[in-house]
Amino acid sequence: MAAFRCRRDPCGFICLILTYFSVFYADYVVIQYVLLPAYSGSVWCTLHGAVFNIILLLLLACHSKAVFSDPGMVPLPETAIDFSDLRSQSNRLNDRGCEGWTVCSRCETYRPPRAHHCRVCQRCIRRMDHHCPWINNCVGELNQKYFIQFLFYTGMASLYSMALVVSAWVWRIRSEREGDEDKEGEEAPSKHLIVAHYIILLVESILFGVFVLVIFYDQLVSIITDETPIEQMRNRLMKDKPNNTHPTHITHTRKPKIALLREVFGRGSIICWLFPLHSSPPSVGGISYSALPDYNV
Ligand SMILES: [Zn+2]
Ligand SMILES: [Zn+2]
Repeated sequence: MAAFRCRRDPCGFICLILTYFSVFYADYVVIQYVLLPAYSGSVWCTLHGAVFNIILLLLLACHSKAVFSDPGMVPLPETAIDFSDLRSQSNRLNDRGCEGWTVCSRCETYRPPRAHHCRVCQRCIRRMDHHCPWINNCVGELNQKYFIQFLFYTGMASLYSMALVVSAWVWRIRSEREGDEDKEGEEAPSKHLIVAHYIILLVESILFGVFVLVIFYDQLVSIITDETPIEQMRNRLMKDKPNNTHPTHITHTRKPKIALLREVFGRGSIICWLFPLHSSPPSVGGISYSALPDYNV
């Protein structure tokens, strides 16, 4: 049910269509107007075509995994929980080693530490980073890896298509100068069309390239500092408050950067980090997030 609820967001739906359209448009321009005319008959045509399409396939695979994977939704209780004795209940949870669990009034359930409620998904998400319309899903503990891989391949595809368009444009200008002037008049309409495609693809690549680079950097910083953007904002607000004694201020244990990266990308080889392969979900502080605490009194 929750997965369908995510897909009802019109902004997310438009962004998904825009993403697929941009990918297929880039592939069309690169093959039709860059590789075939500029590298025709050369081994470079096949090579660039194969590499560019492999990058796009990996981009789409990571994107689909980010879209369709569970970001780490906190399961809803099967029966309604009575929160009237919330204080004594919380103390009991802490006694059982479940410190940091909180109650979500919207989901009406207990949620593990670092889980936050997403207004779009209408559910609590474990280690929620943000809700991303480009994947029409939340970025959370279980799909952050796929989201970062999607950013990585989008950045690579943007750089690659920029390089291919610029080199094909230079080749075109050179061959026009060297070629005979009679043909110039015949090719004029298609020449304008080709240049228009080059400009559109360059603008698309620069926009998406810069956009994903910034988000990619933010994602890596948030992993290495072990602080999601929501936690960063909350901790900043806590610091600004004078005489703050709020118990929910988050202080994470200092872990090595590589351990933090492995929590997101999996414990396998670093080469596996490049592929959208399933890795076992991490369990932090010995608490298994897949199960709610035992709240039988
Ligand atoms: Zn919630
Ligand atoms: Zn969400």
